[in-house]
Amino acid sequence: MSVYLDYNASSPIDHRVLDVMNKSYLEYYGNADSRTHSYGENVRKQVENSRKKIATLLNVKADEIVFTSGATESNNLAVLGLREYAEKINKKHIITTAIEHKAILESVKYLEKQGFDVDLVYPNKSGKIDVEDVISKIKDTTLLISVMHVNNETGVIQPVKELGEYLKGKDIYFHIDATQSCGKLVEEIQQLTYDMMSISSHKMAGPQGVGALIMKKRNYKSLPLKPIMFGGPQEKGIRPGTLPAALIVGFGKVAELALEEYKNTSIKCIKIKKLLLDLLEQSGLNYHINGDLNDSIDTTLNVSFPGISSEALMISTRQYCGVSNGSACNSKSYKPSHVLYAMKLDDELLGSAIRISWGKFSNIEEIQYNFQKLLETAKNFI
Ligand code: PMP
Repeated sequence: MSVYLDYNASSPIDHRVLDVMNKSYLEYYGNADSRTHSYGENVRKQVENSRKKIATLLNVKADEIVFTSGATESNNLAVLGLREYAEKINKKHIITTAIEHKAILESVKYLEKQGFDVDLVYPNKSGKIDVEDVISKIKDTTLLISVMHVNNETGVIQPVKELGEYLKGKDIYFHIDATQSCGKLVEEIQQLTYDMMSISSHKMAGPQGVGALIMKKRNYKSLPLKPIMFGGPQEKGIRPGTLPAALIVGFGKVAELALEEYKNTSIKCIKIKKLLLDLLEQSGLNYHINGDLNDSIDTTLNVSFPGISSEALMISTRQYCGVSNGSACNSKSYKPSHVLYAMKLDDELLGSAIRISWGKFSNIEEIQYNFQKLLETAKNFI
């Protein structure tokens, strides 16, 4: 059996999460916004209880959480939701980075076509954004800066703490895409300063199809964000649509578990990272780690094997390891990763890169056996 090493694309669900979701589907089947009977009220209680659990994990207020269908939607909402306000006050400059998820990059590209002014900041060769580069792009018309916390392809941790501190009190909204760090870099996230943050349940062992946009108040005032969909008053009118109660209950449960268990999970994930690096080193293969190893999360490795096509390697080793060559949202195309491209890797490294990502349910022995098999296969390519 192959070992699953694509947690950054989606994590297996925690069985304890599935249990509470089952109960929710079977027993709390009302609509959280129904006001005329106890079925609705009971679901509402479940939803609000989950909201509190997520708020505790993030150290935010429960009423700062807007449930969405996932981080793609949260990112779209954070960018496109500010459009009306930007046009009203004529502040239409956005700064983001070339290594963001496409949900940010394509949202800002859309606004650019509508007359917005967009600046992209590029990372260094190690995949890290320089705070000074971001700051140097700020203008009087800058309305929004959006930077991810942890890059989904390299695992490199971006300087969102420093940026948030710099932007404190300034008239610029700061959005963080924390999809890959939520539930993992728990203390770090709790200490961040920002206006908006995107998170997604399925990247932290919760169900697919639910996420959130955290919207902090400024001086007790809500952000001037407008909905991007219409048709209901749910989530204070910011995100209409019936709340998927069971998904939200699962999201709340996984947030609670992440808070209780993140330290132990981290110890295990560090061991796996060390094991993978040792196996690479012992393999005798020529390899190159993409991204700064000392400044990256313990659940991701991006490695190139010069001279070996990543497509060929992934296909011929799929019986051993389920890895990928980047974001699942782009993996149907054989285009090289926009993240590694932005890091200016040469063509050989670009064409031979694979992303390995793991998490709380990974089995060290299974990884050892199967990754070794992958490496042995790689040797036959040379
Ligand atoms: N942002 C980042 C950094 C991601 O890794 C992903 C998932 N690949 C997303 C956003 C989109 O998340 P979702 O799958 O919840 O839409």
